[in-house]
Amino acid sequence: LDEVGARQIDKGVRWLFARAENLAQQSDISLSHALTEVNIALVGKVRRSRVSAEKNSAPAKLFCDAGLGGLARWLRASGCEAIWVQDISDADLVRRAEELNAVIVTTDSFLLDRRPIAHGRVRAIWVPPTLTIFEQLRLVRAELGLDPSVAGSAVPNESRCMVCGGELVSVEKEAVKERIPPRTYRWLDEYWECTRCGKLFWHGTHWERVKRRLKDEV
Ligand SMILES: [Zn+2]
Repeated sequence: LDEVGARQIDKGVRWLFARAENLAQQSDISLSHALTEVNIALVGKVRRSRVSAEKNSAPAKLFCDAGLGGLARWLRASGCEAIWVQDISDADLVRRAEELNAVIVTTDSFLLDRRPIAHGRVRAIWVPPTLTIFEQLRLVRAELGLDPSVAGSAVPNESRCMVCGGELVSVEKEAVKERIPPRTYRWLDEYWECTRCGKLFWHGTHWERVKRRLKDEV
């Protein structure tokens, strides 16, 4: 509310609750779920207007905390560069995020008290642990000012490797022939390779499932 320039915060809070109560009634969802929706919509609006004002800034690199491996995969599928390291300690997480100039994504509110974050050298996005993975995904995308419609229309070349977060590039079918299962080779012509770990991707049933979930949930 402060960021949207609300002068009377208490009035703003009442307005948010009224909107959420309305939404809860109309859509037959719980009040906490409705508050999440209202919050994500508001955050997205604020961030998008800011991002369009600073058009030339590079898209943010994200560093997910040790508990957010699943979210990191979905962030990559929606086109974000998300780093995740199994069992990384909080201290290492903050240090590496600072080195990489990455934005930390965390469910741990204590992490926000660490000096580099509290002093503003490292940016962090806090996501409530009570949200579902897709609500968390939408909140992070809203915080980054990303267009909500893009995630649902994701195609491999706008997406990132779900395994390592590397960029995907289109490759010639014949050049990767030996790595394609014979049945897939017969009916598909477009293939993408991860520039970082080398994994091969195609528009198969797995990709269709990923895309459908992003469309439905984000
Ligand atoms: Zn990869």
